[in-house]
Amino acid sequence: MSPRQYCAICRYPQSVCLCHLVRQLDNQTRLIVLQHPSEIRVAKNTLRLLALCLTRLDIVVGETPEDFMAVEHYCRQQPQHVAVLYPNPESAALEQSNSSRVLPKALILIDGTWRKAFRIWQLNTWLHGLRCYHLESPPASRYKRKARAEHQLSTLEAAAHALTLLESLDCDPLYQLQDERQRRLSARGNGLSGASSVLPKPRPQAGW
Ligand SMILES: [Zn+2]
Repeated sequence: MSPRQYCAICRYPQSVCLCHLVRQLDNQTRLIVLQHPSEIRVAKNTLRLLALCLTRLDIVVGETPEDFMAVEHYCRQQPQHVAVLYPNPESAALEQSNSSRVLPKALILIDGTWRKAFRIWQLNTWLHGLRCYHLESPPASRYKRKARAEHQLSTLEAAAHALTLLESLDCDPLYQLQDERQRRLSARGNGLSGASSVLPKPRPQAGW
């Protein structure tokens, strides 16, 4: 089978199709991921795995306020129902949010290396006015990627932990999918010459 053939559903090469491991998770909190453009074709990016499993997930690619205008508009309409998962001096621990606060209907995450995510945060000052959370005691990351700090969770792990805290969702299928994807990537890395370290161009995403 040619390595150039891709599964129409998960869009990984057919030789490493992950569809049989995908379990749909009916998350009630809408996740909105602001994805830095440099992440789109990174093979180790975990966002696609999230998209395969979660029923309520929106991915918006960009960097500047113009890129995220539709999201900003959505947030302005109901700021009390939207929160941002991004650590900053004003953020509260999500672990302590359940009893004392109204839970958000939508949670915004930023997908990128630490530096790229920080850039999105800095440029998009409209995010600063929203309720912000950080993860105080996340599980140790099972994810290996050089571009991230060692303690930093993957976007999948951050989303999974947040959903576990917000709505007690059992996110084991997400972690298992990430583990399997990582196992296959490292197996391929050991066996082949590192070809296909980037993914094919993604299909255009659904509009807002
Ligand atoms: Zn597949």
